[in-house]
Amino acid sequence: MKSFFAVLGLFLFASTPTPQRPAIVDLVFINGNIYTVNERQPHAQALAVRGDRIVYVGSNEGVKIYQGRKTRVIDLHGATVLPGMTDAHYHFIGVGQREMNLNLEGITTLEDFLAKVKARVDQARPGEWVTGRGWIETFWQPPVFPTRWDLDKIAPNNPVFLTRADGHGAVANSAALKIGGVTKDTKDPFGGQVLRDKQSGEPNGMLLDAAQGFVSQHIPERGDADTEQAIILANKRSIELGWTQVQDPGGSYRDIEFYKKLYGEGKLKIRVYKAVYGPGPEAQRLLSEGPIIEAFGNRLNVRAIKVVSDGALGSRGAALLAPYSDAPDSKGFLRVKEEELLPMLKAALRKGIQVETHAIGDYANRFVLDEYEKALNAVPPAQRKIREPRWRDEHSQIINPADIPRFAKLGIIPSMQPSHAIGDLHFVPSRIGLERTKGAYAWQSLMKTGVIIPGGSDAPVERGEPMIEFYAAVARKDIRGFSGEGWHPEEKATREQALKMFTIWPAYAAFEENLRGSIQVGKLADLTVLSADIMKIPEMDILKTHCVMTVIGGEIVWEARQ
Ligand SMILES: [Zn+2]
Repeated sequence: MKSFFAVLGLFLFASTPTPQRPAIVDLVFINGNIYTVNERQPHAQALAVRGDRIVYVGSNEGVKIYQGRKTRVIDLHGATVLPGMTDAHYHFIGVGQREMNLNLEGITTLEDFLAKVKARVDQARPGEWVTGRGWIETFWQPPVFPTRWDLDKIAPNNPVFLTRADGHGAVANSAALKIGGVTKDTKDPFGGQVLRDKQSGEPNGMLLDAAQGFVSQHIPERGDADTEQAIILANKRSIELGWTQVQDPGGSYRDIEFYKKLYGEGKLKIRVYKAVYGPGPEAQRLLSEGPIIEAFGNRLNVRAIKVVSDGALGSRGAALLAPYSDAPDSKGFLRVKEEELLPMLKAALRKGIQVETHAIGDYANRFVLDEYEKALNAVPPAQRKIREPRWRDEHSQIINPADIPRFAKLGIIPSMQPSHAIGDLHFVPSRIGLERTKGAYAWQSLMKTGVIIPGGSDAPVERGEPMIEFYAAVARKDIRGFSGEGWHPEEKATREQALKMFTIWPAYAAFEENLRGSIQVGKLADLTVLSADIMKIPEMDILKTHCVMTVIGGEIVWEARQ
C-alpha cells in the first residue's frame, strides 16, 4: 500500500501544480538589464509583479514558474531597469503651471526676453495681469536683471510680473508696482529686498524673496480648474520622464485637497510626498491633525513641514557668513525668526513630524543646524514620537567646512540638487569667491562623513529631468561638458552613489526604505525603464538617454511608442 501511494504521489506531482508552486502573477519582465540597488543581489534579468508588489527578482529561467496564461510578459530586449526614480525636491504644481504659463526658460538675450513677453502682452486684455516664470540672466550680455523700464516699453497698460527661474526674485513693471504700492518710500520687508536705481533711489522693478509679496498678493488667484489642470500636466510630464515619486517641498492643505480628489478619480498616478509650509497656520494644522501616511495605495504622504531659511545665490538673497565677493555690502538675509521656528521644531519632534528646511548660504546652513540641534537637545528621544526624526536640510548648498561633520553627528539629511551645481558653476565662483566653493555642493565630503544625499531637481527652478540630474551628479559639468575653475571635480558622485541619490536614499528620507527604492521581493513594483545603460555609457550619452517605460505599483503608467 505504501508504495502504491508513493507512486500515486509521484503521478500527482507530475500532473498538477504542487502546493509549493507560487500563484500565477499579472506581470513578468524578462531579458532586462536590471539594477536592483539591493546589495545582496545587485543585478538581475527578470522580475515578477503581483498586484502592486514585486514577488520575484532573478533570471529568465527562474521567473517562468510565475507565468500563467493571463500573465503579461514584457520582453525588455536588454533595456535597463532601475528602481522607480524619485525626485527628492520637486515643486509639483509649479511644474504643471510652467507648462501652462508664459514659459521664459532658455532665453539667452534681453531682446528675446522682451519679445516673448510682448507677444503675450499683445494678446492680453487692457489691465489684465501678465505673469510668467523661468527667465535667468546668467547668459545675457551683460548678465544683469531686467528692470521695470525695460518692461514699460512693451507693456505700458498691463501689470506684468515675471518670476526668475529660482523663484527667489521677480521683475515687475510700473503698472504692477503701482498696484503693489511699491514706491521710493517703501521699506524692505523682513526677508526681502526692493532693488533700487543707484542714482534716483526709485524701485527698479526687481523684488527679491519676501518683497515679491508686495505685488504677487494682488495677482488674482488661479481658479480650481486651473490648478487641477496644472496637476494633471505635471503628472503627465513627470511619469513620461520616468519619475515614480516626487517629494513636493512646501504648499498648503488646498494642494492636498486637489491631490486627494485626483487620486480618488484615478487621474493622478505618481506618488507624492508632500510637505506644508511653516511656521504658520498650515504647519499648525499638520501638528494638530497629525500626518497622512501611505494613503491611496501608498501614493500620498503628508508628514513634513517645509521651512524657508534664506533666499538664493542668483539674487544674492542667500544668507552668508561673510559678504558676497561681488557685492561687499551684502550678506543676504534670513527669512525665518528663531522665536517662531524653535517652538515649532520642538512640537514637531513631540508629534513625529519631519522638518525640511531650505538653506542655501553658509550662514543659513549653520543657522538651521544650530536650530535643529537646540530642538533635538530640548526634546530627547524618549519624548519624541519618532526617535530618529530624519530631518532634512534642503539644498545644503554652501556649507562652511566646519559644519560638514555636523550633519552626520545630528542625523540631519542633506537633500541636494545636482543640477544646481552645474547651473550655478557659471556665476557662483564670482558670487562667493573660490575659497568658499570648497564647501559648495560638497557631495563627496558629506558622504564621507556617513550621510546619505537624496537627490532632487528643485523643478521648476531647474528642468526636473532625471537624466540631467544623474548626469550632473556624476559629471559635475554643464550640459555642454564645461566645468570652470574651482569646481571641485573630486566632489562628484560615483554612478553607484548617483543611482542611490534618486532611488533608495529619497525613500529613506521619506521613511519608505522598506517599501520602495530598490527592486526587492515585497517592495512596491515601481520601475523606471531606460533606453540605455546609464551605469556604463559615456557621460555625455546619459543626456541622450530617455525613459521608455514607467511602472508605478505594478501599473504601466507610461510606455514610449515603439
Ligand atoms: Zn525648492
